[in-house]
Amino acid sequence: MRPFKYVRASDPNAAAGAVAANPLAKCLAGGTNLLDLMKEDVERPNELVDLTRLKMREIRPERGGVSIGALATNTETANHPLIRSNYPLLTQAIVAGASGQIRNMATNGGNLLQRTRCQYFYDTAMPCNKREPGTGCGAREGLNRIHAIFGWNDKCVATYPGDMANALYALDAVVRVRGAGGAERTIPVDEFHRLPGDTPEKDNNLRHGELIVAIELPKSSFAKNSYYLKVRDRASYAFALVAVAAALELDGGTVRQARVVLGGVAHKPWRSREAEAALSGKPLSEESFRRAAEAALADAKPLAHNAYQVELGKRAVVRALMRAGKLA
Ligand SMILES: Cc1cc2nc3c(=O)[nH]c(=O)nc-3n(C[C@H](O)[C@H](O)[C@H](O)COP(=O)(O)OP(=O)(O)OC[C@H]3O[C@@H](n4cnc5c(N)ncnc54)[C@H](O)[C@@H]3O)c2cc1C
Ligand code: SF4
Repeated sequence: MRPFKYVRASDPNAAAGAVAANPLAKCLAGGTNLLDLMKEDVERPNELVDLTRLKMREIRPERGGVSIGALATNTETANHPLIRSNYPLLTQAIVAGASGQIRNMATNGGNLLQRTRCQYFYDTAMPCNKREPGTGCGAREGLNRIHAIFGWNDKCVATYPGDMANALYALDAVVRVRGAGGAERTIPVDEFHRLPGDTPEKDNNLRHGELIVAIELPKSSFAKNSYYLKVRDRASYAFALVAVAAALELDGGTVRQARVVLGGVAHKPWRSREAEAALSGKPLSEESFRRAAEAALADAKPLAHNAYQVELGKRAVVRALMRAGKLA
């Protein structure tokens, strides 16, 4: 591990200011992703600004919805009564991720910002445009079984690995961020993460020196009929091969509106507006769900080793919708 300076921030403005002043500084929250990456020599900050003493841990009702502090742990968030009763989809997504021990340390802000699990990104002997821009993409012509089927390009075929964000996309969450001067702005969660484009090294639209302070959930009409399904290589803990956050607002036996978000298939959570449109106004039935699944995967572009994700994705969409609609 390379030497780095450690600073314990006393307030959010000081933390943001310290990071903004040093292009090689990074925030430290639970450390469950960042410290691993530093040990692997993938991340090389020369300064860590520890956020963990900041008062950004509260989970409270706000404007009919809920505001979740960026430093609340994944465990605190998943177990909170407001989340369990009003946003069970979020609880399910969080507990589908990592292990109990990791969720006890992992924070919500850090979870949104976790980096890809592409094996070439972790291997500093291999080319990787995300780790070292301009070096190439080891996975494009290499082993790409766990890589993207949507939104990729030749510069990067990695996926965003998180679970929590998939539920946040389905719940129309907003990310509240604060810059060095104390100015705050909000970013709708579906504009938070990026596709690789020409800058695959940038995972999201957070500016250097900005802190995530909270995640805001609006009042949701999806609490009763939602389900998070995660398909992975082993059940103990592993990242999603395909995940589906499915949520339905029903009018009797008819779908009024739906949310279908796929995880593990693109550089960001992949909201399928095609599937949502296919469900709108349709009867609550397996047939409607099968049509939605076809629509969701119609534009998939698999790589050499991940064509299986297309059929897996369709089946996962149907199954998640069946559970959300209480038909299974
Ligand atoms: C073995 C293992 C299995 C895992 N499995 C899963 C899984 O199945 N699903 C899943 O979703 N996740 C999984 N994870 C990832 C885990 O959820 C993340 O590592 C964790 O959520 C990151 O949170 P953290 O607080 O530890 O972040 P850190 O590691 O401290 O930070 C991560 C990044 O976020 C930045 N950061 C943190 N907080 C802020 C903030 N408030 N403002 C600005 N920047 C900030 C840091 O600078 C850093 O770049 C797994 C992790 C491990 C180690
Ligand atoms: S897919 Fe992205 S992260 Fe993986 S090697 Fe290619 S550029 Fe790097």
